[in-house]
Amino acid sequence: MSNPSVLAEQANATTTIRGYGATSPTSAVAPFSFARREPLPNDVQIEILFCGVCHSDLHTVRNEWQNTIYPVVPGHEIVGRVTAVGDKVKRFKPGDLAGVGCIVDSDRTCPNCRAGLEQFCDSGFIGTYNGEDKHLGGVTYGGYSEKIIVDEHFVLRIPKNLDLPGVAPLLCAGITTYSPLRHWKVGKGQKVGIVGLGGLGHMGVKLAHAMGAHVVLFTTSPGKKEDAARLGASEVVISKDPQQMAKHAGSFDFILDTVSAQHDVNAYLELLKRDGTLTLVGAPEKPLPVSAFSLIFKRRQFAGSLIGGIAETQEMLDFCAQHGIVSDIEIIPIQQINKAYERMLRSDVKYRFVIDLASLRS
Ligand code: NAP
Ligand code: ZN
Repeated sequence: MSNPSVLAEQANATTTIRGYGATSPTSAVAPFSFARREPLPNDVQIEILFCGVCHSDLHTVRNEWQNTIYPVVPGHEIVGRVTAVGDKVKRFKPGDLAGVGCIVDSDRTCPNCRAGLEQFCDSGFIGTYNGEDKHLGGVTYGGYSEKIIVDEHFVLRIPKNLDLPGVAPLLCAGITTYSPLRHWKVGKGQKVGIVGLGGLGHMGVKLAHAMGAHVVLFTTSPGKKEDAARLGASEVVISKDPQQMAKHAGSFDFILDTVSAQHDVNAYLELLKRDGTLTLVGAPEKPLPVSAFSLIFKRRQFAGSLIGGIAETQEMLDFCAQHGIVSDIEIIPIQQINKAYERMLRSDVKYRFVIDLASLRS
């Protein structure tokens, strides 16, 4: 029988982790060490090899959604190698590749969790960073760090045939675009728009194309036109040009809007067919005005979508393995993270920065 005092000690045991974090909305992301729990019986310990840089990291570091608890260690596009597992873990063993996305815990009992939609957990899902740490108190710390410890339910299997750094962004950018494309049943014979060619947008183009849709990319950056075609867009519209926009009026089945900043969503609602849907995944800090007339004519729908559940994230990874899809990335050492944020703000990334965590260890 286990000795209760030994178990209690294990439950509180921690290890010091090196990472990068921000201490205020105006401070740079800089070296920051913190504690993580030792693996519990259901936990998987992962040495982080690569971590993608999501625009949500930047929104959070700068407190643009006004919910940041400092210090914050961002990063929710994590891939790495398993270094230890608790004795109840069944699906992973040391040496395996593993991934962690945006969710590290949820109540797992509410109707949404039971439906595999942990992102809509009635108790609130626990984010990989800036979430409530139920084990140690305080907040969870993300993937800009050397190691992470996560309950195996929230750990993903990484297909072996894909390039590992290019897989990291699938854990957020991939699932955030895959989930609405599936939910709104995008496929052959449909005209689908993707707005914004950034981290999410370029995955949206690749995935919608792989699902068989006719894909139109909307971009503010004329320089991205050729890349869009290579990634799977059949047409590219420069969204600042009203004439180019007008040509597509009333013609789309579905549009996925990935824009991170203020913009006019009515311009896209006007492009939908009868009963068409515009779904927002981008999360600008301020509300976006919607004209009633953009909606009531043609009975259009305006919707939102949040990342995706664990089972669907695994499904997305397996879909990507089958279709040979990874993210187009620029690998950076962690020391360049602040410069990467500045470039991301200028829409100057092709198309996701991925941190090589070897730079943190060296
Ligand atoms: P990103 O790489 O910075 O891409 C955003 C793209 O939006 C840019 O590349 C640019 O594309 C376009 N854009 C930027 N500013 C614009 C402006 N003022 N007007 C029009 N277009 C503009 O960001 P990301 O990582 O893909 O994230 C996009 C957004 O989704 C962020 O707000 C992020 O927080 C949010 N997000 C939401 C979820 C969710 O679950 N719903 C999950 C992850 C991220 P062009 O150069 O092509 O115009
Ligand atoms: Zn993200």
